[in-house]
Amino acid sequence: MKKLLFLLVLLVFTGATAQDSYLQCGKIVDVESGKILSEKTIVISGNKIIEIKNGFVAGGDQDQVVDLKSKTILPGFIDMHVHIESESSPSRYLEAFTMNEADVAFESTVYAKRTLMAGFTTVRDLGGSGVNIALKNAINKGTVVGPRIFTAGKALATTGGHADPTNGRSNELMGDPGPKEGVVNSPADGRKAVRQRYKDGADVIKITATGGVLSVAKNGQNPQFTIEEIKAITETAKDYGMLTAAHAHGDEGMQRAILGGIKTIEHGTLMSEETMELMIKYNTYMVPTISAGQEAARLAKIPNYLPPVVAKKALEIGPKLNATFAKAYKKGVSIAFGTDSGVSPHGDNAKEFIYMNKAGMPIIEALRSATITNAMLLGEKELGQIKEGYLADIVAVNENPLDNVETLTDVIFVMKEGVVYKQ
Ligand SMILES: [Zn+2]
Repeated sequence: MKKLLFLLVLLVFTGATAQDSYLQCGKIVDVESGKILSEKTIVISGNKIIEIKNGFVAGGDQDQVVDLKSKTILPGFIDMHVHIESESSPSRYLEAFTMNEADVAFESTVYAKRTLMAGFTTVRDLGGSGVNIALKNAINKGTVVGPRIFTAGKALATTGGHADPTNGRSNELMGDPGPKEGVVNSPADGRKAVRQRYKDGADVIKITATGGVLSVAKNGQNPQFTIEEIKAITETAKDYGMLTAAHAHGDEGMQRAILGGIKTIEHGTLMSEETMELMIKYNTYMVPTISAGQEAARLAKIPNYLPPVVAKKALEIGPKLNATFAKAYKKGVSIAFGTDSGVSPHGDNAKEFIYMNKAGMPIIEALRSATITNAMLLGEKELGQIKEGYLADIVAVNENPLDNVETLTDVIFVMKEGVVYKQ
């Protein structure tokens, strides 16, 4: 009897003192309704939000209480377009020849940490060398600090296209990369390349539907895939449950990507009104990456920073993004928040909110795009909101962002899956 009583006491005792977190929040932005909730306490147990209580509540003696009474709380942000392995630098093109995979890996951990500390608890990596897959695994394991990553591994291009890894090299170094390296030239190649990425451990598929700004190649906007190739890729990706994204600046390549079944159009720089209508009809999302356009144009003006062929394209294409985004948003194209960080510095991701807002998108809609919309596109039902049962990805800023968007660039508290990384 005595033993039973002891067990009972122990049970009650451990139940009451399991280490939960109590976040006392001055304001919470309910991104779904657009309303501000005042004086609430978010209760977190393990990696999940278990309750949202009225007023400021403290738990038991063992519980962790975080005082955010003077702050505004939001769900962790999701960026649909980053390149976490690298960052723009004057030696970027040389680094392909001087850096080993291990060098890339060490650098990527710095960028991953910076991204998380900026309040981006989830990112979609749209292409690197494949180190991004190892980085994702290391973060999931808890050996490296960074955001939750959904990655494309190595992006898919056509021969000489944007993301052909040997563009601009001497004949000797050019070789003839194939589906394994991410270069496809037929529907069969496309299917093989998708299956290879699945085997590599990638989560999403990225294609370069048109020329690009930063590749050492003349054209920054020509179509580079046939519609048959794109269809083979999206159909195979669907078989493996992989989301598809297409880099596109030019209009023709964009149309082929939409008709070919791609889910998100990255950049969309020279999108015509007709293509905007097609985006709406096919429920395709635009990932604006205004940050990249701004940064590419800025770098192009620094002497010798970019190769001449690249600088020329950056000046032509970069600045057009703002106006196209403004037009597409106004027309009703669905927008998924994404920056192309790696072109712009990692950790500056939240500047995109400012650019989107300047171009006419209300702050609450930009926030919704970076949370609810992106979680939905990634198929994550427990991300993007502060709600009971959701994963505890929570950030805080000093001011109400609906009054001052700039406050989003100064995140002072970061929690990912119930673990505090910044306070
Ligand atoms: Zn990109």
